[in-house]
Amino acid sequence: MDKELLAMLVCPLCKGKLKYDREAGELRCHYDGLAYPVRDGIPVMLPEEARQMDVDEKLPTSPGRTGEA
Ligand SMILES: [Zn+2]
Repeated sequence: MDKELLAMLVCPLCKGKLKYDREAGELRCHYDGLAYPVRDGIPVMLPEEARQMDVDEKLPTSPGRTGEA
C-alpha cells in the first residue's frame, strides 16, 4: 500500500493514527480496538466494516515499532 496514503489515514472515530498490518491486510486502531479492511489496496474506512479486534490484539506490538507508518 502507498506509504503516503497510509500516512494520511486516520481513524474516522478517534482521528488517531492507524497501524497497517501488512500480513492481515488491515489498518488497526488500537485505541478503538477496530481493524479496518484493505480491499484491493483501498482502505475501507468505515466503522461498520471494521472488525472488532480480540483483546490480545489490542495490546501494542513489540516496543520500538510504534513509529512505523
Ligand atoms: Zn480510533
